[in-house]
Amino acid sequence: MEVFACGDVVPGCTTTSTGPDDDAVLAQVAAHATADHGLGTVPVELVEHVRAAIVLVQRRPPLSPYSASLASSG
Ligand SMILES: [Zn+2]
Repeated sequence: MEVFACGDVVPGCTTTSTGPDDDAVLAQVAAHATADHGLGTVPVELVEHVRAAIVLVQRRPPLSPYSASLASSG
């Protein structure tokens, strides 16, 4: 999963967009930019900026019952 925080590009904006890949995230960013920031179109430089700011998020592996019991007992 990939995450983009709009605040990285637009200071003060707390919106985050998530998706399985860059294109999915960019589609959400474009919709957000037009709806909430009044952009008619998303400039190429903004797309590049967004791509650079997108963070790939790894899912945490589930805790095993063994390590979970260690954490709760100790
Ligand atoms: Zn925003």
